[in-house]
Amino acid sequence: MAAVSEEQILKTLGEVIDPDSGKDIVSAGMVKGLQTKEGHVAFAIEVDPAKGAGLEPLRKEAEEAVFDLAGVVSATVVLTADRPASGGQAAPPQAAQGIQGGALGHQPNHGAPEVLPGVNAIVAVASGKGGVGKSTTAVNLALGLAAGGRKVGLLDADIYGPSMPRMMGITGQPNSSDGSNLDAMENYGIKVMSMGFLVEEDTPMIWRGPMVQSALEQMMRDVNWGELDIMVIDMPPGTGDAQLTMAQRVPLSGAVIVSTPQDIALLDARKGLNMFRKVDVPVLGLIENMSYFNCPHCGERSEIFSHGGARKEADRLGMDFLGEIPLDMIIRETSDSGKPIVVSDPESEHAKVYRAIADKIWDKVGGEQTAGPKIVVQ
Ligand code: ADP
Repeated sequence: MAAVSEEQILKTLGEVIDPDSGKDIVSAGMVKGLQTKEGHVAFAIEVDPAKGAGLEPLRKEAEEAVFDLAGVVSATVVLTADRPASGGQAAPPQAAQGIQGGALGHQPNHGAPEVLPGVNAIVAVASGKGGVGKSTTAVNLALGLAAGGRKVGLLDADIYGPSMPRMMGITGQPNSSDGSNLDAMENYGIKVMSMGFLVEEDTPMIWRGPMVQSALEQMMRDVNWGELDIMVIDMPPGTGDAQLTMAQRVPLSGAVIVSTPQDIALLDARKGLNMFRKVDVPVLGLIENMSYFNCPHCGERSEIFSHGGARKEADRLGMDFLGEIPLDMIIRETSDSGKPIVVSDPESEHAKVYRAIADKIWDKVGGEQTAGPKIVVQ
């Protein structure tokens, strides 16, 4: 079947009428960021943030109209509000929440989430700011959990910069075996979903808060995740309104915060803690990434960012300290090349550290100890 063209999509959307202006959404200039890739279509409908909640039927109508076109494998339509976002990514929380329509009631503390009935526990990996190694940590923890024999899903909610396709070494697009939901992609025994599978990695992300919310919901609701012991969510970095809303909307069992020693000093990690406390999500603990540096030449350990701050800070804040991961080129090379260290060198010290942290997380969400097969890259 030939892939659908942009022209065909716009023609169809030209029949979808915005109830407020009475104009079709194409002539009203509301269709933004249309992207198609081998039958996967994604775009935003720009709306007045104050009307966000009431426009869910419009979003649905547009999505269904596009999905019904021949050659469309998936349609992801989200509402967006074009307003200067504070910190580059925040959206008005009331608009973002309104758009949800209540599909994901927040369940403080944990429990079988209604939206993902086959998923036992959902853990968010968050950071106070970008670039601290949150995604690298999330992927290695997910693999560490899988190494312990658990069925693991990895949801890349970092839709400003989805890195899971690359870090998990997965290319291509998801199929839909039942014709309605997308099948999660899979590698190293882990199920993965990311907007990165549906749009090119270098596509500028025009998305803002409300769009992030509905994209995330769709990745939870409209994906065949199957039965999972645990799902790891790579959150977008930062603690703005969009992250707060997400923390509220996803039925999280708990969250872990990744930070560098430097970032601890700058109090970014504390913001993360406060964010989850605000929405009653238990913070399972703090992970110090790029904690110290082992010189590959002389073997000497140097503590470039005043190592150890995280443990002290965690104590002070009443959080558990889950572990420290050194700054090491091998961690960067392996995750950036799609073979994270936990699978590419499972006997290494670093892999052991990740697995130990994964086990702590598993204990904290009430998981049973299992002794399953280890997954090793050939
Ligand atoms: P974030 O998700 O916080 O933005 P990433 O996980 O994408 O951060 O990491 C940013 C960069 O730092 C990546 O190139 C990654 O490979 C690298 N990195 C992350 N953790 C480490 C580490 N412990 N040692 C060396 N490089 C790391």
